[in-house]
Amino acid sequence: MRLDKYLMKQTRHGRREVRALIERGLVRCDDLVITDRLHEVGRFGKVELDGAILMDRTARYLMLNKPAGYLSATTDPEHPTVMQLVDDDPADPLHLAGRLDRASTGLLILTNDGQWSRRLTEPDHQIDKVYQVTVEHPLTDDLIEVFQQGMYFAYEDVMIAPAELEILSDHSARVTIHEGKYHQIKRMFHAVENRITSLHRLSMGEIQLDPQLQAGQWRHLSAREIDWV
Ligand code: URA
Repeated sequence: MRLDKYLMKQTRHGRREVRALIERGLVRCDDLVITDRLHEVGRFGKVELDGAILMDRTARYLMLNKPAGYLSATTDPEHPTVMQLVDDDPADPLHLAGRLDRASTGLLILTNDGQWSRRLTEPDHQIDKVYQVTVEHPLTDDLIEVFQQGMYFAYEDVMIAPAELEILSDHSARVTIHEGKYHQIKRMFHAVENRITSLHRLSMGEIQLDPQLQAGQWRHLSAREIDWV
C-alpha cells in the first residue's frame, strides 16, 4: 500500500496532513526517513511516525519436525498442539501451512505470512509432498500401477491425481502426492485394503525436512527455502 494511504488508514490524519508529515521527514520506514508519499509499505517491516511505531512486523517461516501425538491446530482442550513446540508471538501469531494428522510425524511448516502459506497450500499449485509410510499388510508391485492411475474418492466424488509409490520393503514405501485431500494417504491405502501404521512427511516441494531436527525441534527456513514458494 502507498505510504500516504497507509498513514491515513492508521492515523486520524487527513490527506493534506499526511503529506505534510511525510515532507517534513517525520516518517521512517525500516529506520530510513521516507519523503516520497508513493513509497510502498509492505505487509512486513517497520513504520514510524514522529518516533511512534505504527507497525513492526517481521515475517517468520519455520519448519518443525512434528512428533506423534500433537495436533496440527492452534488450541485444543484435550490434546497438546504443535504451537506448544514453537516460539510464538501472540501479537503476530503463526499459522500452519498444511497439516498432519495427530499420529503423523515429520515436516510441518508454520508462518505468519498468509500470502506465502496460501501459495504453498493452494490446490492449484500442486506442490509435490513426499511421505514415508509403514503399512500393516505386505506391499505388492501391482500397487505402483494402481497409485499411478489415480483413485476415485467417493466422499468428495472426485478422482485424485496419480501418485508415485516407491516400495522400500515389504511394509514400507515412499509416496509422492501432488494434492492434499483430507487424510489422503490413509484413504489411498484404505482403498487398496491396507492400513497405515506410521506416516512421516519428508518434503513439501523443495522444502525438505532437515535431518538434523529431532522430533519436536524446529528451525527457521533459509532464504532459499522461503523464496522457492
Ligand atoms: N495424509 C494422511 O492421511 N495423513 C496425514 O497426516 C497427511 C497426509
